[in-house]
Amino acid sequence: MTNDKHSTSEQAPFWARLRSRLRAEFGEAAYRSWLKPASFEQADDETIRILAPTRFMRDWIETQYGDRLLRLWSEENPKIVRLDIVHAGADSDAPIAEPLPAVPVQTESPRAEIGAPLDPRFRFDNFVVGKPNELAFAAARRVAESESVPFNPLFLYGGVGLGKTHLMHAIAWQIRKTTPERRVIYLSAEKFMYQFIRAMRFKDTMAFKEQFRSVDVLMIDDVQFFSGKDNTQEEFFHTFNALVDHNRQVIISADKSPNDLEGMEERMKSRLGWGLVADIHPTIYELRLGILQSKAEKMEFGIPLKVLEFLAHKITSNVRELEGALNRLVAYARLIGRPIDLDNTQEVLQDILRANDRKVTIEEIQKRVAEHYNIRLGEMYSARRSRAIARPRQVAMYLSKQLTERSLPEIGRKFGGRDHTTVMHAVRKIDELCALDTSFSEDVELLRRMLEG
Ligand code: ADP
Ligand code: MG
Repeated sequence: MTNDKHSTSEQAPFWARLRSRLRAEFGEAAYRSWLKPASFEQADDETIRILAPTRFMRDWIETQYGDRLLRLWSEENPKIVRLDIVHAGADSDAPIAEPLPAVPVQTESPRAEIGAPLDPRFRFDNFVVGKPNELAFAAARRVAESESVPFNPLFLYGGVGLGKTHLMHAIAWQIRKTTPERRVIYLSAEKFMYQFIRAMRFKDTMAFKEQFRSVDVLMIDDVQFFSGKDNTQEEFFHTFNALVDHNRQVIISADKSPNDLEGMEERMKSRLGWGLVADIHPTIYELRLGILQSKAEKMEFGIPLKVLEFLAHKITSNVRELEGALNRLVAYARLIGRPIDLDNTQEVLQDILRANDRKVTIEEIQKRVAEHYNIRLGEMYSARRSRAIARPRQVAMYLSKQLTERSLPEIGRKFGGRDHTTVMHAVRKIDELCALDTSFSEDVELLRRMLEG
């Protein structure tokens, strides 16, 4: 096991055994993200040392798994009474980083800034409003402008790059301007967790709680990050309740509605939906064009309307990508000192345009898969169940699920009016076969690439 480079060979079976116990105990996902990347060694007769690749992972392993790890080890070897979890540092040849202090070092204790800085560009006056985001925008304005708490919490949700963070920062800027005495804190869910872990590490959770509970407006961005992180979720839940109970404004964002957040406790989901839930829908053409016009104007670089329209038609994924395209285009034009036209736009943005083009249809998938397995296209809709036909049909269903936005019932309908459970079964079956049979899985992969290409 390359990870355990410090362990001697006679200890190897011991580590292997421990690893499989950890995996069984904490589950595959937790094991993979937190424990697998660490390496283990015996520091002395009584001490096990874990080298975590980053400071953050060290803290996390310590707070979430520390006690349990020590227990498991001492069950294996009763002499072990201590666990040292250290951060291995960037340079693996460097001496091992300092062990965790047994007593918290006060000077290092985190106190300073609990919020994150605000982006000066994210203000209400440069947020372009259209049908897909008008509710979220109005709700954000309302919260920013009223001195009381109009709804609690305000829950903003929508896909990536659609303006959630922009709106939250805009609220914070606005409140700072009009009522600077109110204390506004904005931070990502990730940062919240990180600070919580640090506070636990420094046995400073009281101060942590107080800091958060003394704010007037708390905004936490991307709370889907809390999924499955039980301790942090619990702490967030308490903070949330304390603030709402004291009539302080809470603003939350996520990529899904409260109900659809997986890995969240039921009581959390229901509480998150108590105030106003506003979703930001995917952009539409008019909004995209409006955003491009507004940004182009600020860049003070003449871009023909035709080009902006072309981009608004073609780049449909999200606003971030739209901005990226515009920035690149202007940078290019400035560099070569030539005006922008449709031709050079297409050339400079080739990759982005292609990525947005890649919309595979179920019909194409059926056709490709039928060709590949040498069956008639009609068999995709037929009722025949012999393996030679059913398997390719399942592959096509599987790829339809993976490569298109269609729902299971919609896919079922396109395959001769089959039930959505049939599609679900097909997806599972193909997943299973891919895991078992490499040549089959390469086959499916090849089909996927052809369809995406
Ligand atoms: P999210 O947090 O939803 O992933 P962001 O708020 O980070 O998305 O937005 C991504 C980028 O798109 C930001 O640069 C933001 O300023 C810009 N943006 C998104 N929506 C709008 C809009 N309606 N008007 C102007 N800019 C927008
Ligand atoms: Mg964001």
